[in-house]
Amino acid sequence: MAKTFKYIILGGGVSAGYAAREFSKQGLKPGELAIISKEAVAPYERPALSKAYLFPESPARLPGFHVCVGSGGERLLPEWYTEKGIELILSTEIVKADITTKSLTSAGGETFNYQTLIIATGSTVIRLTDFGVQGADAKNIFYLREIEDADKLYEAIKAKKNGKAVIVGGGYIGLELSAVLKLNNVDVNMVYPEPWCMPRLFTSDIAHFYEGYYANKGVKIIKGTVATGFTANSDGEVKEVKLKDGRVLEADIVVVGVGGRPLTTLFKGQVAEEKGGIKTDSFFKTSIPSVYAVGDVATFPLKLYGELRRVEHVDHSRKSAEQAVKAIKATEDGKTVEEYDYLPYFYSRAFDLSWQFYGDNVGESVLFGDNNPESPKVKFGSYWIKDGKVVGAFLEGGTPEENNAIAKIARVQPPVENLDQLAKEGLSFANKI
Ligand code: FAD
Repeated sequence: MAKTFKYIILGGGVSAGYAAREFSKQGLKPGELAIISKEAVAPYERPALSKAYLFPESPARLPGFHVCVGSGGERLLPEWYTEKGIELILSTEIVKADITTKSLTSAGGETFNYQTLIIATGSTVIRLTDFGVQGADAKNIFYLREIEDADKLYEAIKAKKNGKAVIVGGGYIGLELSAVLKLNNVDVNMVYPEPWCMPRLFTSDIAHFYEGYYANKGVKIIKGTVATGFTANSDGEVKEVKLKDGRVLEADIVVVGVGGRPLTTLFKGQVAEEKGGIKTDSFFKTSIPSVYAVGDVATFPLKLYGELRRVEHVDHSRKSAEQAVKAIKATEDGKTVEEYDYLPYFYSRAFDLSWQFYGDNVGESVLFGDNNPESPKVKFGSYWIKDGKVVGAFLEGGTPEENNAIAKIARVQPPVENLDQLAKEGLSFANKI
């Protein structure tokens, strides 16, 4: 027997939780909405998995970080969904989606029908086994996307007490995981092919600080090479990581963070795609009017820059979900909502550090403040300048007011003539705007 809902959210991650809250705000009758998720738990703030979830002392655990606590909102416990008459269909993977019959089929053979679908399937990790890296299927080689992955990693950290870890990848997963493993007293080697960490966002000046800071904390960084193979012991557990440059590193634990890919395969050929994601308008409606896509999977018009973008960050997943629900409800009432006008915002936290970035990291960059990793008080940042205007801003160690100031500057895009002067003024330039 098929189950029928007015609205189905496919995926039970960050977007799903924020969408559910918005549906409830806008008015929802019991039984109208279902969330179908492969995960066994109600929507939670995913960024916690690479941070407080792995702390050696008092690690964060559910129900502590269910959405919407990450943005200072109400914590939606499983009971909240029950009270609102929202059906949480957990541990259920959808394996087939048919846009023409408006139906979804689970791995267990159940069918779910909808009038309106919100695709919120997020991303999956890129695995070394996808490239046939030798020995990459050994035990204790971890990836981190879902709470189950974090639980397995946590167990391994406990089991391999004071062991050795190799982190493959120098992006935000690599940086956050290296830090948290070090806090667990694990010996950490970090390996990445690029000349500096987080090259998609960081300039070499920004990276200089983090690499120095990590080195001071005892994290060993190996740049300019990649893992080409793994050896395992007789139990099949990883023992060594072989690098392309010939070096061999001992490892009890390997964490791989080499990027993700949006989960769009169920909809291939059924909805328009763009830039690797599902193409939407400013209301997150896809090429099929009854189907919306939000969060990591959506390629949407980024009004500020006049182009289509896909954004894999938590702030956008929350805001896109809210925008889609507002648009769905407005359409039903014959009304409209304003176009999505997003200012890209990313952040990360590791050790005692915390950075925020707003806007676009294009054009020339200017460093301000003191990026010396030995400095007792850390505060520095960078502006990006394109066509004579500040278009992006990064700040490590900012107060809430200072972070607001750099957000504002990225939104307002003030003109700037003299880059040396800008570097000298630093944060006070943003504070003036
Ligand atoms: P997700 O939150 O990934 O949710 C997708 C959901 O869909 C999951 O529950 C999944 O199981 C489910 N699903 C997928 N396919 C199916 C299917 N076929 N059937 C049923 N269910 C399915 N961003 C930042 O800005 N700052 C950070 O510090 C930060 N830290 C992060 C740390 C980690 C470890 C990870 C993994 C991500 C982090 N992010 C961070 C990125 C951020 O979490 C994502 O951008 C955000 O979660 C995307 O929300 P989403 O709803 O699109 O997808």
